[in-house]
Amino acid sequence: MFPSTHCAAGCGRLVLSGSKLCAFHTVEANAEAERLGGFIQNLRIIRDLNAAGLHFEGRDFSGKEFYECDFTGARFSACSFAGTTMTTVFFTGASFFDCDFSQSNLQFLSFAAANAQQTTFEGSTLTSLNFLGAHISNCNFTNVDLYNSRFINAILFNTRFEDCNLKRVNFLKSARTGVTFKLSNTWEAIFEANE
Ligand SMILES: [Zn+2]
Repeated sequence: MFPSTHCAAGCGRLVLSGSKLCAFHTVEANAEAERLGGFIQNLRIIRDLNAAGLHFEGRDFSGKEFYECDFTGARFSACSFAGTTMTTVFFTGASFFDCDFSQSNLQFLSFAAANAQQTTFEGSTLTSLNFLGAHISNCNFTNVDLYNSRFINAILFNTRFEDCNLKRVNFLKSARTGVTFKLSNTWEAIFEANE
């Protein structure tokens, strides 16, 4: 899983794939994002990649398969992940603006403490995803199978969960403003303790 080498600056983080340094210590963060963004676009299956902390803008990653990859703290603007398959990918603390995860099949992903704005997951299967403490605003979860996903302590704003499968989905201690659940099985979701 991921490169196991630690950053040469001694910070304890793991190195970016193909580098001796982490995103925090490289002096070429933009060049590293360019290099790894191109690397991803040239592959169909991406495994064990560490791109934590990099900023990707306008990238088309649609249709790719990602396994055991680390994008912790990364930033994505206008990137497409449409039609992707992902298992065990870390987007912990990452931010997304105007991104597209529609028609994807994602399982065991961490979006804990992530920030997602104007991002769509429409028509996707999101199994056992973790949105713990995530900030999600103006996002679209229409026609999504969210089975066993967790939005515990998440802050949800102007976001649609229409025609979703919410079985075993946990919204405990989440804040929800302008959130719609039309045609979704909210009775199978968990909103309060002891339910
Ligand atoms: Zn470092």
